[in-house]
Amino acid sequence: MSLISDSITVAEKVQSIAKKYKDKELNDEIILLQQKLSLLSNENIKLREEMAEIRSDVLSNKNVYMDDNGFLRRKNDETKYCPKCWNKDRRLSIMPNHGVKEFDSINEYTFKCSACGFMVYSKDNFDKNSTQPIS
Ligand SMILES: [Zn+2]
Repeated sequence: MSLISDSITVAEKVQSIAKKYKDKELNDEIILLQQKLSLLSNENIKLREEMAEIRSDVLSNKNVYMDDNGFLRRKNDETKYCPKCWNKDRRLSIMPNHGVKEFDSINEYTFKCSACGFMVYSKDNFDKNSTQPIS
């Protein structure tokens, strides 16, 4: 925001300089520049409002839940996220599509968060293009 208001201030200074030289073409261009800056400023305000709304949506828990396998999930989103990254930093770290079976004797798959190293142990592995467990 301050970058835009700084630019408007500079444009006003340039306009007052242009008046001294009584150059109509230059003055017209500066007026055009000020109009564009004003539009840019309005657009910037609108974008900031939208961003604040999206951010509060993401940060609130209303679209986020823990599934039965212990992954963090979002409504209308097939991706699995790390619960630790979310709980600690409100960060959505994507978990791997496939689990690793570490021990043949134990029927569990390990999913490791690449951001924090947190492990989710699940009895289900997952098909690459689906969140449905492979049977
Ligand atoms: Zn994590």
